[in-house]
Formats: sequence, structure tokens, C-alpha cells
Amino acid sequence: MTEFVDLETQDGVRMTWNVFPGTKQEAMNCVIPAAAIYTPLRPIPNVPVLPYAALRCRMCRSILNPFSIVDYAAKIWICPFCFQRNHFPQHYASISEDNLPAELFAQYTTIEYESAHDAGPVVPPVFLFVVDTCMLEEELGYLKSALAQAIELLPEKSLVGLITFGNYVQVHELGFGQMPKSYIFKGLKEVTKDQILDQMNFFSGKPKPAVGVIAGARDGLSAASIARFLLPASECEFVLNSVLEELQRDPWPVPADQRASRCTSTALSAAASLLGVCVPGSGARIMAFVGGPSTEGPGMIVSKNLSEPIRSHKDLDKGSAPLYSKAAKFFEGLSKQLVHQGHVLDLFACALDQVGVAELKVAVERSGGIVVLAESFGHSVFKDSLKRIFQANDYDLGLSFNGVFEVNCSKEVKVQGIIGPCASLDKKGPLCSETVVGQGNTSAWKMCGLDKKTSLCIVFDIARKDGPDAVGQSTNSQFYFQFLTYYQHNDGHMRLRATTLSRRWAAGSGSIQDLVAGFDQETAAAVMARLVSFKMETEADFDPIRWLDRSLIRLCSKFGEYQKDSPSSFSLSPRFSIFPQFMFNLRRSQFVQVFNNSPDETAYYRMILNRESVSNSVVMIQPSLISYSFHSAPEPVLLDVAAIAADRILLLDAYFTVVVFHGTSIAQWRIAGYHNQAGHEVLLPQSSLAKSPEEYPVSAPWVPKRKAVQSANKVLKSVLVHELGFGQMPKSIIFKGLKEVTKDQILDQMISFQVSQSQQWGDCWFWRSFKVDPWPFQQTRASRCYKYSLKCSGKFIGVCVPGSGARIMALLVVHQQRGLFVSKNLSEPFVLTRTLTKVVLRFYSKAASSSEGFRSNLSSRTCAGFVEIDFTTLHIIFNVENLAFQMLFLNELNLLSNVY
Ligand SMILES: [Zn+2]
Repeated sequence: MTEFVDLETQDGVRMTWNVFPGTKQEAMNCVIPAAAIYTPLRPIPNVPVLPYAALRCRMCRSILNPFSIVDYAAKIWICPFCFQRNHFPQHYASISEDNLPAELFAQYTTIEYESAHDAGPVVPPVFLFVVDTCMLEEELGYLKSALAQAIELLPEKSLVGLITFGNYVQVHELGFGQMPKSYIFKGLKEVTKDQILDQMNFFSGKPKPAVGVIAGARDGLSAASIARFLLPASECEFVLNSVLEELQRDPWPVPADQRASRCTSTALSAAASLLGVCVPGSGARIMAFVGGPSTEGPGMIVSKNLSEPIRSHKDLDKGSAPLYSKAAKFFEGLSKQLVHQGHVLDLFACALDQVGVAELKVAVERSGGIVVLAESFGHSVFKDSLKRIFQANDYDLGLSFNGVFEVNCSKEVKVQGIIGPCASLDKKGPLCSETVVGQGNTSAWKMCGLDKKTSLCIVFDIARKDGPDAVGQSTNSQFYFQFLTYYQHNDGHMRLRATTLSRRWAAGSGSIQDLVAGFDQETAAAVMARLVSFKMETEADFDPIRWLDRSLIRLCSKFGEYQKDSPSSFSLSPRFSIFPQFMFNLRRSQFVQVFNNSPDETAYYRMILNRESVSNSVVMIQPSLISYSFHSAPEPVLLDVAAIAADRILLLDAYFTVVVFHGTSIAQWRIAGYHNQAGHEVLLPQSSLAKSPEEYPVSAPWVPKRKAVQSANKVLKSVLVHELGFGQMPKSIIFKGLKEVTKDQILDQMISFQVSQSQQWGDCWFWRSFKVDPWPFQQTRASRCYKYSLKCSGKFIGVCVPGSGARIMALLVVHQQRGLFVSKNLSEPFVLTRTLTKVVLRFYSKAASSSEGFRSNLSSRTCAGFVEIDFTTLHIIFNVENLAFQMLFLNELNLLSNVY
């Protein structure tokens, strides 16, 4: 695998097949499509930046590269893509074998151009903050302080604007001296550019020109009128801070049984139109901070009535989410507007409820925006992510704007499309395959926003044929790709990065060894993950499990070695050895299993997957477990009882969540504070934790099964203890949910009660007659008594089987719109829709005080949550297959016993 990683270090490209199947038919037989995952702005050491414009082939417009054949005497180069002979221009006159321009050096397959000639003026980036005000006072406070910090970090020259929204949209005029002034739009309808021009005094009394495009300083708008809304950060810091300081919760009254009136879509359309009017075509970001579901305007996802739940995956599948398609269509339109203007939409969704990420996905993804999903604006996931966007250091995101991505390929390779954060520019040509995947039918894509990590998945089609049709095909076994990325570098200049690669065809159809040697199973897993997510979103009735299974079976039957009728003879080349496991984990990953994730969460996971590199995607699919100890260097370990040891730290990296587990001795040392005492720092292997997550080796073969903890029953208003041994009649003993059940009560009221041993769970009447708690609830939350159910179970077991091995398996469910840790009154706004696990983890991660040091090591990610587990009190036998599951599950129980 290391050679593929080396190639990635050099050019930022990884391919599923590094030797391409020789014909179209052969490619079909290979199951995994020929595809590349390319990170256009990956930092590559020693990439030369040439101070002149790139030299292009006059036929196909590809760029002079190390694979071009050069005739030094005639001063001619032959394009490897179209074989056109091109003359070198005058300024290459001194070219010779000993005097090569950098773009012809064999090692510079990736190179950058920054020509002063076509650079134009340096344009400052624009940040337009769009802030939701319908939230709790506490949340608004967190958000305001996070924004105040972000404003301090803004580059001085960058332009800043502010829009706030609730029931109405408020566009703040920051340039109006010391007095706060704003323009207000109704939340019901989208805001067009014309409205912005007409109503926001852009012509200050003068008549609006009747014809022509009116947009930007170049097209008829005075710089002064633009500067009323978009100001250099250095000039408006004071005004912006005072507006933020005085920002109040949306004053619109919210009845107890209703959601706040929140016109997210209208605010975003106003933001897009304002940018379209003021700075079309230059790099700008709309940064939306949303604290709840959109309930007003064309992009609303749910009505204001609290009794109506927000759409779930089930509703979407059944087509019973009437607002969904309307909202999705609206945001599709918004995405087109943004792509046309070259602007980015970033979404910071911080709420316990869904806010509509699923509907907004199209606009965020096509414009190359960043998405952050957290439970609260006070959560470190949000705060750290926001900071990282503006911070300039090794961990910054290296935000770039206004990118255009182009592909050139040798004739026999076509492009089906790109799955990733980009939008088609509809540049049709011979390169386009008839089969379309993702953003296809084009050879150029817009990337309004891109950063150091943005990774595109380019899916190829092989047009090479066998037999008589093959006439005219090159007999050369080499072929070429060129990836061109134009972008506005974060220093404001336009740059062009060119990566030119060569791969070869497998020789003939029998050359399986060739194909095997070039197979990159990690990339294959990442590509399959993007493909399956894409198909699930776009193909009706697509069965992802069946598709993945069939793909794996076909792949194994082609590349595995086995004797007929002898399963034990089956073997796979080491090149394929972990791929089946990746597929197994992908089947049960959050990308495929939507059960118990909200549509918002699924959209979020997929958006992150679609923009990440191969190594990070692999961790998302199959988390890694790393052990730290005194005795050895950090090492990946298997999920096994043996992995847990008193003097070990275990680190589980699931990308979205990182779990740290301390062995008992280490936990005690930490409690004693050894690691803070001078001279003892070396005692704890914490220094070995000072690594960036990317450096962790991937990955131990084990199975994440967190879902299991969430599959569920229902805990009832009253605690029902079922008497399973009472023949065919259901019988149960009921305790009130309000009070703790004592051992004596159990003894008194449950005479001759015993745990049934004879009945199998499967055919037990109990499961068939299990019903929804009959206790009525309509305008209130359901009444649940987790606490006493658990305590009662404990005591019950204590009475019946003291001292012998027993396990209480608590299966808890929190349905949407029903609460936990909250009164039954729905008007109490603490509404939780996430699962218990997540809620509990949130509490715990807040409580974990010593986690700062580690958290900073996650700084190159935008989304990782942090959980630290440190329990020494619970003694439960580790014999289940999955450590992660156990760690989370135990933590949950541990917390339950503390919280209550
Ligand atoms: Zn050419």
C-alpha cells in the first residue's frame, strides 16, 4: 500500500486501479470502477510556482508537461493527449536538453503557475455572516462570543457583512456610522436581486438604469453603495461588535405549542442576492449559523405546529414529507445562483433538533461549502471548527475561492463525472462519457470554495475496445491524465495547479496479475462509499446492501483463487485482503444504514465523506483502534479482551467521534494528577498522544456496532416487570414510575416471582404482545421513567440471583419531539431528538476536563467530536465482539447511575 501513499504525497492522487483494465468489457468485469480521488490543493512540498502563464496545446488546450515529447532542434513539442505538434513561443527560444523549463522536469508532475500577467487586482475575500436569532438566550450568548472571536481573526482586508433573521430578515448596514441601521424583508418569500437593488437604496435617489446588468463595482454600482453593506474587517470591527452585542432573541412571540418562526431560506436567498449584486464573480462565503428548523418561507422543512414531527428517513421513503421536495427544489435553485456567482455557502447547524441540513445539502455541497453539525453553539465541535476557518497556522484549512477544475485524458479514457464538492459547468466534449455519475456530462467543474483537504472522486469510463473496432487505437500501453485547477489562492492571486499523470493499460485480457498489482483497496473502499451514498440518494428502489454484496462477490470470484466446490480453498491476494472487511463495515456504516440517524445527520456524514481524502474516508468506514503503552510504540490493536490492560491507553478513532479509554492504573495516576507534577510528565505515555489524527495508522480489523445500543424497545411510564413463567396469559407486576422501588417491595409484591429459564426469547408471547405505553400524551411529552426502571431491574436481579452473573440490558429510545431530562411540558424548549447515546456523550464530553490537550490534536478536522471515557467503577466482563460498542454502552450506564 505504501507505494500508493507515496504517489499521493507527490501528486495528491490515488486511484482504484493503477493499471487500467485494457478494454471496456474487462473494466466491467473488474467491478470496481476506474476512479481517482484527487485533492487539488493538497500541500505538496517543493512544488514550484512559476511566474508565467502555462503553455497550452493549440488543439486540446492541455498544458505542457513532463510527458510531452520535445524536439529541441525544431523547437517543437508534441502533446501527449492529442499528438498535436506545437511550436514553442519566442520566450522558450533558449530551451535545450540541458536547459529545461521547470514544467518539463520529470519530477514536477504537479506544478503551479501564478502569472502576474493575468492576475488582475488582488480581491479581498468576502465573509457574509447570516445569523439565526430564534434560539435560547444561552445559545445566542455562545454564538455571539464565538462570532466575536472569529471577527478578531478575520484577515484585515477581507470584507464583512451581517444578516440576522428570525420571523423577518434583517440586512445590517454596517457602513452607517455609529447608528445601527438595517433593512427588513418579510420571511415568507425569497428575496431577489431586483428587490435588493430597489429597496436598499443602491441608487440613492437616482433612477435605476433601465437596461444592462447591474452588479458589482464594474457593472454600474458605485463602490460607496457596496461599502454600506460589505466593509473591510479593519474598519467595521467596532460596529459589527456593537451590533452583535446588542443582538436580541427574535422578539416574535412563540406560542407554547409552536416552533419559532424561522425563515432560514429567505435569509439565505437575501444573502445570495446581496452578494450577487455587490461582488459577483469574486470569492465570497455566506456563513450561516442556524439554531433550529426552518419553519417559514420557501425552504421550510416543517410547520410551526409542534405536534407535527420533523421528517424522518421513513417519511422520505414513503413520500410522506410534503415539504421536503419543495425545500430541496428551492435550495437546488439557490445552489445554481451561488455557483453562477462563484459564492460559497457554509452551514453551521447547532441544534438538538434537525435544522434542514438534508434539504440544504445541495447548496452547500455544490458550492464547496463547509458543514458543521453540533448540538450547541457552546460545543467545542462548533467553536473549534469556526476558529480553524480563520486561523492561519499549520492547521488552517487554507481556504481558497472561485476554483475551476478541468480534466484532460488520453482518447480512450472518458469521464463519467465527479462525486464531490463541485458543480458541473456544462462543458460538453469528446471527453464526456454517456454514462453519468454525480456531476457529469462536462469536462469542467466549478469549485466555488475549496481548501487543502477538498478531495474529488473522478469516475472514469474506458472506451478502449477489443477486436476489429480497435483500429485507430494507440498501441502504446501508456496513457495520460491532466488535472487543472484554477483558483483564487488565499493571498488573493489567481493560480493554476496542473497535475499530469501517466498510467498504463493492462496487457491483454489475461493479465490479471497486472491488475492485481495496481489495485489500491483503500481507495476502492472510499470510492465505493461515495458511489453507494450517491446511488442511495438518486436511485429510487436502490438496494445498497444487495449492490455492495454483489459487487464484493463478483470481485472475489474474479480475483480470488479457489477450487470448485471447496470453500476452504479460497484465497485472495494481499492486495485485496482487507477489501472484504471494508465492504462489511461499509454495509453497516452510517452512510448506508440510515436507521436511527436523522436525514440531517445522514446528509452531514455523506457531505463530509464526499470531501475527504482516502485515508480519512477509510477511518470513517472502519474506525481504527490504537494502543499506547510504555512498552512499545503506538500500535494498532485488535478488538479483543487482550487489548484492554491496566497500563494502556486505547484510542478509538471513528473520525466523527474519537474515544479515549484509560486502563485502570493510568486512570488512577491521572486522578492522582501525576501527569501535572514536575518530573512525572514522562511517566504517562501522553506525549505519544501528541499526534495529529492523520498520522495514526489505519486500521485494526474489527467491527463497529454502535447501532446495536440504539435498536430499541420502549421504557414505560410505569415499570412493568413481566412474569414470563406464567403460562399463556400475560401477567406483570406494575410499579409507579415516580418512586424508587425497594428490595422489600419486590419481595412483598412479587411473591414467587422467578426468572423464566424454560422459555426461548424468540417464541415468547411477550414480544408479540408488546405495545406502546397506553398512558395518554398529546400536548405533552411521553412519560418515561428510565431511572426507576433501571434501579428496579438492579434490585430485582439482586433479589433473585444475587452474586451470580447477570446483565441488565437497557434498551432506550428517544423519539423525535419527545424529551429526555426534561419536563413533560412541550413548551419547555429543551427538546432532544438525538439518541440517548449522543446526549449522554455530550454531557460527558463537557465534563471531561482534561481533554483539552488531546482536542487540540484534532485541529485539522472540522467535525470530530471528542469523548473521553474514564471509568474504573464498573466491572463488566469484556467478552462481546465490539469494544467501541462496549465503551460507549458502559459509559452510558455509568452516566445513568451518576446523572440520576
Ligand atoms: Zn493537445
